[in-house]
Amino acid sequence: MSGWIMNRKHRSIGIMGGTFDPIHYGHLVTAEAARGQFGLEQVLFLPSGTPPHKDPTHVTETKHRYTMTVLATLTNPYFEVSRVDIDRRGRTYTYDTLRILQQLYGEHTQLYFITGADAILEIVGWKNSESLLDMAEFIAATRPGFCLGEHQGRIQDWFASRKKRLNVLEVPAMAISSTDIRERVSKRESIRYLVPETVEYYIRKNGLYSQDVQNTAGAHE
Ligand code: ATP
Ligand code: MG
Repeated sequence: MSGWIMNRKHRSIGIMGGTFDPIHYGHLVTAEAARGQFGLEQVLFLPSGTPPHKDPTHVTETKHRYTMTVLATLTNPYFEVSRVDIDRRGRTYTYDTLRILQQLYGEHTQLYFITGADAILEIVGWKNSESLLDMAEFIAATRPGFCLGEHQGRIQDWFASRKKRLNVLEVPAMAISSTDIRERVSKRESIRYLVPETVEYYIRKNGLYSQDVQNTAGAHE
């Protein structure tokens, strides 16, 4: 076998990080579109532990966010949920996550880091963001309300000197956010068709996002 063939990446794995508080169809549609467009063998959903960008006191307990992510992804044979961010102590950074996954999957796996347009705009401020770009290909999905347009030049410039690329992915417009779902639940409005039914039932059964303070406790994480 020639060196050229041996050096090629054999498989591609998508990584979709998020708070998933709760997971919704915007996440699922984006992951499925990325899988199809980039020929991903698998998409790993990574619920966050204590997210560095969000006030931990306002994030639902990890066990609930993890369980909802499992429920939502159950029926898709290409989707898996990873505890890699949950099981690490302290704040987790995407740089460390990608390093761990790279070691886990080995050099012949190409990682694709999938984000929405809003998240890619934030990445510039992350720890080790330059090195981050050498570790994975990036997929930025369009998201209503977050236009890459005027920023696209800046982001592409930023990627220009790196080994990896930024791939823009058009997904069917899904103006769904976890923030909106939490608000709807707290106002007793319907979230039907915004999240999978199992997730809707889980939220109801556990009284999530109602005014019950027991369910939002960063201190327990
Ligand atoms: P919140 O409102 O709490 O911030 P969220 O809906 O943005 O929640 P996150 O868990 O923060 O969900 O997002 C995880 C990833 O999914 C991010 O990269 C985000 O940009 C992306 N994402 C979330 N919703 C959508 C959507 N409707 N379309 C495309 N990408 C999305
Ligand atoms: Mg968000």
